[in-house]
Amino acid sequence: MAPPPVQGLQARVGLDGRLLGHFPYGEAPTADLVAIAPGVQLHRDAAAALLRLQDAAAADGIDLRVLSAYRSIDLQKQIFFDVKSERNQSALERAQVSAPPGFSEHSTGYAVDLGDGRAPDTNLSASFESTPAFAWLQAHANRFHFTLSFQAGNAQGVNYEPWHWRFEGSAEALKTFEAAQRLNR
Ligand SMILES: [Zn+2]
Repeated sequence: MAPPPVQGLQARVGLDGRLLGHFPYGEAPTADLVAIAPGVQLHRDAAAALLRLQDAAAADGIDLRVLSAYRSIDLQKQIFFDVKSERNQSALERAQVSAPPGFSEHSTGYAVDLGDGRAPDTNLSASFESTPAFAWLQAHANRFHFTLSFQAGNAQGVNYEPWHWRFEGSAEALKTFEAAQRLNR
């Protein structure tokens, strides 16, 4: 039997490669990452599309903020274990709100967490769904090849995350999320 893939986490991967609901993802090659703000990086394809999306939103009076973008597997490890111990959650509970390291869409460089600059109290909260920014994203994000990763009641069993969007506008990005798409279809 293969050992647990994440040190410090007893859970093992299922037959489809998922761990606690999350698919495995590699790290974007450094050469593919570009800065979209100081200390904030995305895959260059996603970055170009996101800038166009933000411009279009701004033209409609929407202040879309990037709350999180590319995260290395090391950073994801810190987030997963720090918050887990802080909140005294079980691994399964924690995995519903944050992916285990090696299983986060953020490490691909294609995923972003977005917030409404005029409603920062809704950041990273289900209440983001009632903001003008979310309504705008629902109406327009697809045009820029961004899609909501974790819909309410998604087949992966991951908590609803109205703030988390992934880019699927290149052959490589599409291939990266093929398994997740197939499961959630
Ligand atoms: Zn996210």
